[in-house]
Amino acid sequence: MIKDIITDEAVLSQPCEPATAADAEVAQDLVDTLLANEEAAALAANQIGVTKAIIAYLNDKDRPVVMYNPQITQALKPFPAVEACLSREEAAGVTRYKWIRVSYDVLLNGELMSRKKKMEGWQAQLVQHMVDHCNGELV
Ligand SMILES: [Zn+2]
Repeated sequence: MIKDIITDEAVLSQPCEPATAADAEVAQDLVDTLLANEEAAALAANQIGVTKAIIAYLNDKDRPVVMYNPQITQALKPFPAVEACLSREEAAGVTRYKWIRVSYDVLLNGELMSRKKKMEGWQAQLVQHMVDHCNGELV
């Protein structure tokens, strides 16, 4: 279901709880909302009002990728970035990393399975922004 994107800092500044396999519907709402929003390349669940650690982003084929409980385990090559956020009015400066390693869970046959991925460039930057959202941080 397509949800409204929220800007309420009281919600957005709370660290998100770990997501479980029971949150599949939240993940689906996140994907539906991401695909319905032309300005969005990624969303975190708290941006649709659910404080669970789930993110979704569009890959290089514009297909949605969902990560449950994403965590950045390694980050290399810092650079200064200016980022916009759908939940904020103004863009802001932040340090990002060109290369990251992420651990996360995927939902397979009703169970969460852990995965690891190396990412770089624009998608790595999106994931860093979204992991910040999961931690209750805003740019
Ligand atoms: Zn944001």
